[in-house]
Amino acid sequence: MWMAGGRIPEDVIQAVLRAHDIVETVGRTVHLTKSGKYLKGLCPFHSEKTPSFTVTPEKGIFHCYGCGKSGSVIRFRMELEGLTFPEAVRVMAEEAGIPLPGGAGAPEEPTPAQRERQKLIEAHEYAAKFYHYLLQNTEHGREAKAYLKRRGMSDKLIDQFMIGYAPERGDLLAEFLEKRGYDLRLMEKGGLVAARSGGGFFDRFRGRIMFPIRDREGRTIAFAGRILQDGQPKYLNSPDSLLFNKSRVLYNFHEARPEIRKSGRVVLFEGYMDVIRAWDAGVRNGVASMGTSFTEEHVALLRRVADEAVICYDGDDAGQSAALKSAAMFENAGMPVKVVVLPGGLDPDEYIGKYGPESFVRDMVSQPVSAVKFKLIFLRKNHKLLEEEGRKDYVLEAVRIIAGLDSPAEREFYLKELAREFEFPLETLKQECSEIRAAAQKNRPFGDKLGNRWNNGRNETARPPAGRMPEPPGRHHIERTLLYWMMHDAEAAEYVHDKLGDAFQVEDHAAIAAYLYAYYAQGHEPDVTRFFSTLQDERLERTAASILSMETVPPCTSDNLDAYAEEVLKRQRLTALKERVEERIRAERAGDALRAAQIAIEINTLERQLRAKATRPS
Ligand SMILES: [Zn+2]
Repeated sequence: MWMAGGRIPEDVIQAVLRAHDIVETVGRTVHLTKSGKYLKGLCPFHSEKTPSFTVTPEKGIFHCYGCGKSGSVIRFRMELEGLTFPEAVRVMAEEAGIPLPGGAGAPEEPTPAQRERQKLIEAHEYAAKFYHYLLQNTEHGREAKAYLKRRGMSDKLIDQFMIGYAPERGDLLAEFLEKRGYDLRLMEKGGLVAARSGGGFFDRFRGRIMFPIRDREGRTIAFAGRILQDGQPKYLNSPDSLLFNKSRVLYNFHEARPEIRKSGRVVLFEGYMDVIRAWDAGVRNGVASMGTSFTEEHVALLRRVADEAVICYDGDDAGQSAALKSAAMFENAGMPVKVVVLPGGLDPDEYIGKYGPESFVRDMVSQPVSAVKFKLIFLRKNHKLLEEEGRKDYVLEAVRIIAGLDSPAEREFYLKELAREFEFPLETLKQECSEIRAAAQKNRPFGDKLGNRWNNGRNETARPPAGRMPEPPGRHHIERTLLYWMMHDAEAAEYVHDKLGDAFQVEDHAAIAAYLYAYYAQGHEPDVTRFFSTLQDERLERTAASILSMETVPPCTSDNLDAYAEEVLKRQRLTALKERVEERIRAERAGDALRAAQIAIEINTLERQLRAKATRPS
């Protein structure tokens, strides 16, 4: 059977590598921009503000200078989706319609944890269908459906978003899952059911309209349940589980991602219903966080796919305060952000109901105000603008906000607006603004911007910019350069094979060299991506990719090759010499004169070899 021996046929791997373009695959998750020979973006595997993640299309590899993750397109999918090598190859083969030998194409025996995850995902998919069916086709869902219709949800939308209903009766889902052989203790871990104190299980969600929450791959991993009757809480989310972490998941992200990437813009809503109504109105790049918890992890996730965020929260005070907070989070992460200000305290859903979908898109979502403008609008609420004193306070506060802008032109623009509206002399405001900036300059901690003082006490600690990882020094660099040449040139590999064999000082380098010898021995042409697939070892792949990503590599001339190989040999002889000297001392101490004499001869030979070839690579 396929992979019974643990190895995947090489032609399958090659076909998978040919079928999946690395730029396209990575591009689905990471916003990439061209930078010379490679593409750059924010690493999906660690949190960062300046891109240190690169893709080299020519070589078919990715490499992150920040966290060191690197490898082929297969490795990328493994890391992103938590797959093993055989799993990733199988999934990618299926996607590309590549037939798997052995027919079944069954993956390797999954670990117990993987099996639990798989079971839970299945159960969530079942539960979503079950709730959806109850809503659309049964008496249980009649009232919920009427409510949804009143809120403007068409059957098409209900189907598309798989909205469902969890009935009042408390054990329908538990029964349904148990009948299908699911272990209810596991289902409890996933948050679908809860344990009864007297034994047995009951449904966690009851009397609620159910919104399935999907992960980045579109699999259902949790639910948000909105209560139908009066009651608390209004929304109940699945608890964090093996599948679901609410600070990392965004509602509708999977569906919205293509449009977010295309437009470079993401629209952030407060509620699931808002996302769905906006989608219906034509806003296809909308997402929502779970409840009120919008986190830095969400910001990091969005920064990877979008250039700009537009916040579209409720128009009431609570919504606007929340918008202010979220805007500050985007600003702190250095991501441009704008805010839609809905009139009359309306939420998006209500606005669409009142003014129609066209107006919502044309006059609201397409007309967000800058974050500064939004702060100035928000600030008005706190001041009595009809009173002289209130007006003065407001203007002073407003100047402080404007002073936080980096662009002089923008400062000028807002100061002018302020001067005009409140009939203050522009020069006075400018003077005030400069003074605030000068004072802030003096006290400002590293990296803290004036504009960030809206972040409600949460202060970004100064962090050095994510720089490039320095090249490892000395012998590492020499060996890495040799391997770089060997990966691109079969003759270089042959030369090193003859001269050095496995005499690399770094174990992983010796291993990569051995793989290279084997690769060329099989008659393959130099092909980095293909070579990578033969490694099948994360650490080696990582090392190999970091070698391929070296910034400056001297040309592979025969002189250079000779000098570098010689240097490795020399270092190896020096190490051997040191070991021998120690050995001789031990033999002498032990009174073994014969052994000591033998070692002395070896030492002599090594010293002669070292003297004979003392060339160093330039
Ligand atoms: Zn990284």
